[in-house]
Amino acid sequence: MRIDLHTHSRASDGTDTPAELVRAAAQAGLDVVAITDHDTADGWVEAATAAADAGITLVPGMEISTGHRGRSVHLLAYLPDPTSPPLADELTRVLAGRESRVPEMVERLRRLGIEISTDDVSAAAHGAAATGRPHIADALVTLGVVADRTEAFDRYLGAGRPAYVNRYAVPLELAVQLVGEAGGVSVVAHPWGRGGLGRPDEATLAHLHDVGLAGIEVDHQDHDPATRELLRAMARDIGLVATGSSDYHGTGKVDHDLGCNTTAPEEYERLMELARGAAARSDRVTPVVTSGPATGTA
Ligand SMILES: [Zn+2]
Ligand SMILES: [Zn+2]
Repeated sequence: MRIDLHTHSRASDGTDTPAELVRAAAQAGLDVVAITDHDTADGWVEAATAAADAGITLVPGMEISTGHRGRSVHLLAYLPDPTSPPLADELTRVLAGRESRVPEMVERLRRLGIEISTDDVSAAAHGAAATGRPHIADALVTLGVVADRTEAFDRYLGAGRPAYVNRYAVPLELAVQLVGEAGGVSVVAHPWGRGGLGRPDEATLAHLHDVGLAGIEVDHQDHDPATRELLRAMARDIGLVATGSSDYHGTGKVDHDLGCNTTAPEEYERLMELARGAAARSDRVTPVVTSGPATGTA
């Protein structure tokens, strides 16, 4: 069983359509893939249809933009009802903040003497549900201002860089709570990478576990081997599920190939068990895990 629980499609900042993403996951030899676009469930239906055809199990999820103690933290949410009103309201706030941020950042780039327009960003977004910094980065690449997304973030778009504009993020503990009320489970993405918790002590993670956090992403390209072992030990001590995933973005992010990190089957089963419990406790109709026909390669 090869399980990858963190991937992006064109519904946010990946470069594959949801169907292409699912087919690529099947081709990469994965048995289970989760689609986790930023702050949206927009890719779920297309991905589920493709999963049934491709013979791969699809877990619907999303990566929520949250904030904790002044830091930006990415929270993976699996199987919540995205129409649960308090969760949907927060996601709307995040997406609205991101939309207004793009014109503000474009204006700052123009003041820096770069000939870029919001139309350039829209063109780079290929009809994505929400345009964001990665699309501004792609526009800068197309315009020949920078060589790739990394250079765009390092020079202009990253926190503290000259075109950076802050935006709304859901308070982390509130997000964990709202995902639970929506019948889903949450996992902190790349806790020691960019968009992570910083250097979390065990007490912080234990507290988050107390408020309903199900797990932490241990195996991620942002974590070196020593960090992974430390996080794995903390997860074990606290009783958090330890996941592993690629954070695939198609051609939008190098060194994040599908299946480059995977989640152990027993950890996946624990996570799904917690999700079933959360779904049973909530009054929402939660989404289902889609399984395709047997591929005969089990
Ligand atoms: Zn992330
Ligand atoms: Zn991600």
